[in-house]
Amino acid sequence: MSKVIVAGGGAAGMMAACQAAAGGHQVLLLERNEKLGKKLFITGKGRCNLTNASDTDTLFQSCIRNRKFLYSSIYSFDNQAVMDFFSSHGLALKTERGGRVFPQSDHSSDVIRTLQDLLKSSGVQVRFHSRITKLLIEDGRITGAEASCGGRTEVFPCDSLICACGGQSYPSTGSDGQGYELARQAGHTITKLFPSLVPLNVKEDYIREMQGLSLKNVEVTLLSGSKKVYQDFGEMLFTHFGVSGPLILSASSIASDYIAKDETRLLIDLKPALSDQQLDGRLQRDFAASQNRDFKNAIHGLLPAKMIPVIIRLSGIDGPKKVNSITKEERAGLVHLLKHFPCTVTGFRGFEEAIITRGGVSVREINPSTMESKLVKGLYFAGEILDTDALTGGFNLQIAWSTGYLAGISIQ
Ligand SMILES: Cc1cc2nc3c(=O)[nH]c(=O)nc-3n(C[C@H](O)[C@H](O)[C@H](O)COP(=O)(O)OP(=O)(O)OC[C@H]3O[C@@H](n4cnc5c(N)ncnc54)[C@H](O)[C@@H]3O)c2cc1C
Repeated sequence: MSKVIVAGGGAAGMMAACQAAAGGHQVLLLERNEKLGKKLFITGKGRCNLTNASDTDTLFQSCIRNRKFLYSSIYSFDNQAVMDFFSSHGLALKTERGGRVFPQSDHSSDVIRTLQDLLKSSGVQVRFHSRITKLLIEDGRITGAEASCGGRTEVFPCDSLICACGGQSYPSTGSDGQGYELARQAGHTITKLFPSLVPLNVKEDYIREMQGLSLKNVEVTLLSGSKKVYQDFGEMLFTHFGVSGPLILSASSIASDYIAKDETRLLIDLKPALSDQQLDGRLQRDFAASQNRDFKNAIHGLLPAKMIPVIIRLSGIDGPKKVNSITKEERAGLVHLLKHFPCTVTGFRGFEEAIITRGGVSVREINPSTMESKLVKGLYFAGEILDTDALTGGFNLQIAWSTGYLAGISIQ
């Protein structure tokens, strides 16, 4: 029976610890917080979107960086396996719009409780307030870890260690980037870190004027210079700094490749269901029905109230102008504006607001079939600490479960 330390009691660490214990190893899980799964608790707005019931193609397509590295781990423990795992341990699940899977109770605490019960019944020893500060490595092999436990430094010997300390987003949950320091200390390369799945700052003041306004059923296109780099349909929100909401979070995952390189713009199609021609027809009908009305009063049926002053200003058409004197060219300009409402992205919000960290332990230095380090024997990595990331929809937790599972079953 070998001694295994799991560093971090988040999604990946708890899964890894359960699997290593099921393999007959003596497992000690060290968690710096006073409880397990602090980040898991806030996932999915407290409901925990724990995976996605999509087909395998969509699952891989939703993994953005280092998808190929994830093949082995996801094939060893895919979304169906995750659902079967939780269901077989008594957690009833449900699938919602877009394949998002949640506990039927809508409580992330039930996901944590299921894992905690399993840790207990598998004999995993859990120590809280135990922050690993140093990996002990001799002759290229892990031999233990040093941890700060309530102010005292303690040494824990081991044969293997699974490092599942998470990324550095929402650092108040415990994952504050220290895992990267531990990995560096073991000689690993950490790729550039970015906040990802994060709201975006924009330049234009008129966006801030509309703060609080949420738009449903719009299409967003992200342009780097003149190149289209992202397009999707859904929901977004204007805020006091820029833009947020599901569409924008997904766009942010792509935007990090471009923001520093070229001007990055978002174009919002406010009427994606209508072609330019259909929208022009709609405007003509609206204007014909109220010929003597001022322009500013004639577009209420078309747009939310908070947008109207902004659209009037950007359209260049005088608000008090009678709609029967609006020219064809002015109408064409208005159609273009409604189909390509613009703003300029100036950067990301910080790690405190990011759903995930993009970047991490370079996957070139990790064996994808076991999650073991190619540099230090007996050292494994799992979860968000790795340089992998995915879109929203349960895919990031899928990565944590799959890599945690594979690391756990691979312990020799
Ligand atoms: C607000 C929010 C909502 C989200 N919602 C979803 C969602 O619905 N679906 C989804 O798929 N993903 C979601 N995510 C992303 C998902 O939560 C993470 O990708 C996932 O939790 C990563 O799991 P992990 O185990 O790698 O890291 P974490 O869950 O961050 O766990 C790491 C653990 O390690 C501990 N630790 C760190 N350093 C040390 C150390 N030195 N010693 C000991 N312990 C240490 C930490 O305290 C922490 O408990 C969300 C993230 C956020 C912030």
